[in-house]
Amino acid sequence: MSGSPVWHPFTQHGLGEPIPLVTHGEGAALHTADGRRIVDAISSWWVTTHGHNHPRIVAAIREQAGRLDQIIFAGWTHQPAEDLARALIAITPEPLTRVFFSDSGSTSVEVALKMALGYWAARGEARHRILVLEHSYHGDTIGAMSVGERGVFNRPYAPLLFDVGTIPFPHAGAEQATLDALERACTRGAAAFIVEPLILGAGGMLIYPPWVLAEMRAICAATGVLFIADEVMTGWGRTGTLLACEQADVVPDILCLSKGLTGGAIPLAVTLASEPLFAAHWSTDRARMFFHSSSYTANPIACAAANANLAIWRDEPVQAQIDTLAARQAERLAELAEHPRVRSARQLGTIAALDVGGEGYLSDAGPRLLRFFREHDLLVRPLGDTIYVMPPYCIDAADLDRVWAAIGEAVEM
Ligand SMILES: *Cc1c(COP(=O)(O)O)cnc(C)c1O
Repeated sequence: MSGSPVWHPFTQHGLGEPIPLVTHGEGAALHTADGRRIVDAISSWWVTTHGHNHPRIVAAIREQAGRLDQIIFAGWTHQPAEDLARALIAITPEPLTRVFFSDSGSTSVEVALKMALGYWAARGEARHRILVLEHSYHGDTIGAMSVGERGVFNRPYAPLLFDVGTIPFPHAGAEQATLDALERACTRGAAAFIVEPLILGAGGMLIYPPWVLAEMRAICAATGVLFIADEVMTGWGRTGTLLACEQADVVPDILCLSKGLTGGAIPLAVTLASEPLFAAHWSTDRARMFFHSSSYTANPIACAAANANLAIWRDEPVQAQIDTLAARQAERLAELAEHPRVRSARQLGTIAALDVGGEGYLSDAGPRLLRFFREHDLLVRPLGDTIYVMPPYCIDAADLDRVWAAIGEAVEM
C-alpha cells in the first residue's frame, strides 16, 4: 500500500508500479518532480492537440475565470457558450444545427443515446434497440459501457448493461458481411447505430476504410435508423482531417465531440444534433423537454478554452502541423513494418500503431512495455500488445525519433 489516498483510473495498485508526479508541461513534454523530461507520445490520453499549456488557451482560461466562473445553464446562458455553439455549427456539416453541452466523452454519448430514444418516444414509435460495432469503446459510464465491447473491463457490471445489437467489425476482405449484418439489423428495426468513424481507438486502433463508413451511413438513412458518430477521439484533426466523417462525406444525425475540444486543457463535451432531433423535443408540453443536465453544463471557463482552441485552428498552421506529423509517422512506421516481431503496422492521420506478441489487453507484454517506456522517459501506454503513437501535433522530429527509437528497442525485447 502506498501512502497516497488517490485511487487512479485503469491502474492496478496491487502491482506497486511507481506513479510519477508531474509538475508542469510544455509543448509535447511533461516534467516530473524528480527532474525528468517526459515525451508525451499519447497526448495525455488522446486529448492534447496543440501541446500542453498553449499560451492562447491558458490566457483564455485566465481571462474567463476572472469574469464569470460558472452559471446554471438551464434557462440561462453566457457569451462563451453562445460563441462556441455558433462556431461549432459553422465548422461542422450543415444538417447539424443544435449543440448540447456536457463534460466528458462518456456523457456526450449518454446524451446522444437519450436524444435518440427521446426522438422515437416523441414520435410514438417503439424503437429502443441500439446497434453497435464490435470492439467499440464509447466510455465508462453504464450506458456508454453498454454500447461498448464486453469483456474484462466491464464483467462485474454486465448484469446491469443493456442489450444491444452487435455488428461484426469490418475486417479487410470481410466488409460486406458487416454491411449485410447492419442492413439486417436495421431492417428489423432499431433506434440508432453508434460508431467510431474510421478507427476504433480503445478497441486496439482498428482501422476500416471510408467507403465502409459511407455504406453504413447509407444503410441507416435508408432504414430510418439514427446514425450517431462518436468522434470523441477522432475529432480535432486526429485522423488527418478536422472530423473523420469528412473523409467519407458522411453527415451523422448526432455527433459527439470532446477530448480535443478544448485543445485538451479542460473537460468539456458537446453532442451536436440535426434539427429533427431538436424538433422532436420542441413543444409547449414540459413533459417533452430533454431531461438531461449536469451541474457544470457549458461551464464558461471550459467554453472559453474551446473558443481559444477554435481560434488556434483558424489562425495557426494546425493542418500543416498535422500533415507534417502524419508524414513523419509514416516514415518511422515503415522502418518497423517489416520487422518479424511486428504485426499489422497501420496508420490513420496522426495515429500510428503496430502489434507485438498477441495475447490481448491483459497479456504480460502490456505492463512490461509500460515499464520499459517509463524508464525511457516516454509516455507511451500500449493497449495490451498494441503499441501506438498519437502525440500532440507540435511534437518535433527529435522527440518523435526518441519515441520510435524506443519502440524499435521494445519490439526486440
Ligand atoms: C475516450 C472516448 C470516450 C469517452 O470519453 P471520456 O471523456 O473519457 O469520458 C468515448 N468515445 C470514444 C471514441 C473515446 O475514445
